[in-house]
Amino acid sequence: AAKAAGKSAYRTCTPALRESAVSRAELIADLRRAVGEGQLHLEFQPIVDLATGAVRSAEALVRWRHPRLGVLSPARFLPLAEETGLIVPIDRWVIHEACRAAATWRDRAPEATVAVNISAAHLHRPDLIATVTAATSAAGLAPRALTLELTESALIDGTDAVLERLSQLRDLGIRIAIDDFGTGYSSLSYLHRIPATELKIDRSFVARLGSDDRAHATVEMVTRLAGAFDLAVVAEGVETERQHEAVTAIGCPRGQGYLYGRPDAAATVGQNRA
Ligand code: C2E
Ligand code: MG
Ligand code: MG
Ligand code: MG
Repeated sequence: AAKAAGKSAYRTCTPALRESAVSRAELIADLRRAVGEGQLHLEFQPIVDLATGAVRSAEALVRWRHPRLGVLSPARFLPLAEETGLIVPIDRWVIHEACRAAATWRDRAPEATVAVNISAAHLHRPDLIATVTAATSAAGLAPRALTLELTESALIDGTDAVLERLSQLRDLGIRIAIDDFGTGYSSLSYLHRIPATELKIDRSFVARLGSDDRAHATVEMVTRLAGAFDLAVVAEGVETERQHEAVTAIGCPRGQGYLYGRPDAAATVGQNRA
C-alpha cells in the first residue's frame, strides 16, 4: 500500500518540483541529510493578546533551505517527511530548537510561551514524552512554556495510548492546542476526552468574516465554547483590520495572522503587535 501511495504521489508531484529536475527520490535523500547538515530553520509567528496588542507567544514554523531549490515551505517537504518517517527527527529537532529560542525570550517576557506543531506520526510514538522533557530541560524551559499543536485529523484516530500520552504531557504541565479547529471531524465528545488547553480557530473561518454569516457564527460559537470549557482560544489567519475588528468584537482573546506579523526568524515576543 505504501508503494502504491508513493507512486501516485510521484505522478501528482507539482510542476515546480518537476521543473526543478529533482526527483522525489533525490528530494528524500536530500531530506535525510537536511537535519544533520543544519539546513532546517525555524520562523516564529507572533500570537497577539487582542485587548493589549502584547505578544507573549509565538508559533514555531519549520523551513528547509534546500541547497539548490532555495527555501521550501512545510507543504513542500512535510508530506514526504511523513511518508518516510523522517518527520520524527524533524519534529524532534523543531521541539529542541523552539525550546531553546523560547528560553531566550523570557528576559523580555517572563510568561513567554512557544507553540510547536506535532505530526500524527509523532503523537503515536511512546518516546514523544521523552523527547519533550529532554527538550524543555536542556533549554531550562518550564514545561508550561511549551504548547504542542495537534490537528483534529491527528487526534481523530487517537487510541487510548495516545490519550494516555496526552494526559501525561498535561500532568507535566505541557499545554495542548487543537490546531485548525473546525476543519476536522470534531465532536463535542472528543473535546471531553482530549486534555486540550487551547483551540486555534482555523483561518478558513476568519477569512470569511464579514462576508459569510455562518463563518461569523462559527468563530463566535468556538470562542464561547472555549470559554465554557475553560480553554484558551486563538483566531488564526487574521489578515485585515476588518477581520481584526470582527474577532475582537466577538471577544476572541488572542489572534495570529499576517496583520500582526508574518513568520520570521526573529521572534517579536515581548513586544507589541505591528
Ligand atoms: P499551521 O500550524 O496551521 O500554521 C499556520 C500556517 O498558516 C503557517 O503556514 C503560517 O505561515 C500560515 N499563516 C499564518 N498567518 C496567516 C495569514 O494571515 N494568512 C495566511 N494565508 N496564512 C497564514 P506554514 O508555515 O506554511 O505551515 C503550514 C503547516 O505546516 C502548519 O499549519 C503546520 O500544520 C505544518 N507545520 C509547520 N511547521 C511544522 C513543524 O515544525 N512540524 C510539523 N509537524 N508541522 C509543521
Ligand atoms: Mg500550528
Ligand atoms: Mg493552524
Ligand atoms: Mg494549518
